[in-house]
Amino acid sequence: MPNDRFLDGQVALVTGASRGIGRAIAVQLARRGAKVACVATRADNNAETVEACRSAGSEAVLSLGVDVADTAQVAELVSQVQKELGGLNLLVNNAGVTRDQILLRMSEEDFDRVISVNLKGAWNFTKAAARPLMKSRGRIVNISSVVGLTGNAGQANYAASKAGLIGLTRSVAKELASRGVCVNAVAPGFIETDMTAAIEESAAEELASHIPLKRIGTSEEIALAVDYLVGPGGAYVTGQTLVVDGGMSL
Ligand code: NAP
Repeated sequence: MPNDRFLDGQVALVTGASRGIGRAIAVQLARRGAKVACVATRADNNAETVEACRSAGSEAVLSLGVDVADTAQVAELVSQVQKELGGLNLLVNNAGVTRDQILLRMSEEDFDRVISVNLKGAWNFTKAAARPLMKSRGRIVNISSVVGLTGNAGQANYAASKAGLIGLTRSVAKELASRGVCVNAVAPGFIETDMTAAIEESAAEELASHIPLKRIGTSEEIALAVDYLVGPGGAYVTGQTLVVDGGMSL
C-alpha cells in the first residue's frame, strides 16, 4: 500500500481554495504531506483553509489572492509560489463561477466572465506552471463538471467553459506527456457547497431523487478523486475525465 504521506516534500497550488471543493482538496493534499499554496480572489478569504491545512500536517502553507482571469498577475503569483515554497509539483485548477441564465436572457458580459474565470483562468495557471511542472514531472488536475459533458439548460456559458476545460486537459496531456506530466480532469455532479446553496431544499431533494446513488455529493468525495489522480494510482493515467456524480450523468 502507498505511504499515507506520499506528497511529503511536494508543493501543490490549488485555486479556489477558500471554500467548498477547493478547500477540501487543499486539506487532503496537506494530509498527504504537501506544502500548499491556497489561491482565492483575496488572500484573507483563505484563512480557514490555511488553518485546516496546518492542522492536517502541512509544513508550509501560503495564502494568495488573485483574479485567475488576469494572465500577468497569475504568472507573477506562480513565480512567487516557486520561490517561497521551493518549486511546484501539483496544480489543481478549481476556481470557478456561475452566472446562470437562459440563452435569450444571457448577457455577453455573463458569457465572457464565466469563460474568463473557469476556462482562461485554468489556461493562465497551466501556462505559467508548465515549465516548473516539466522540471518536477508533476501533475495537473482540472475541476470540470458533468454539465461539460451533458450540457444544461440555463448554463450555456458554464457548460461551455467546463467542456472547454476537458479539451484543454486532453490537449495539454498530449503536449506534456513526453515530459512526464500527467494532466486529468475531475467532473463532479451535484456537490453541496456555496455554489449550490442557492438551490431551495425542496428542489435539491427533487434533484437528489434523480441521482442513482440518491444523494448529493460532498467536497471531500471530490478531494478523494483528486487524491487518486495525484497519488501513486494516477501515475499511468493522463488526458482522462473522472466523473464523480453518483451516477447522475448515466
Ligand atoms: P464555491 O464554493 O463557489 O467556491 C468557488 C471558489 O473559487 C472560491 O474559492 C472563490 O474564491 C474562487 N474564485 C471564484 N472566482 C475566482 C477568481 N476570479 N479568481 C480567483 N478565485 C476565484 O465553488 P465550489 O462549489 O467549491 O466549486 C469549485 C469548482 O468545482 C468550480 O470550478 C465549480 O465549477 C466546480 N463544480 C462544482 C460543483 C458543485 O456542485 N458545487 C459541481 C461541478 C463542478 P473567493 O472565496 O475569494 O470568492
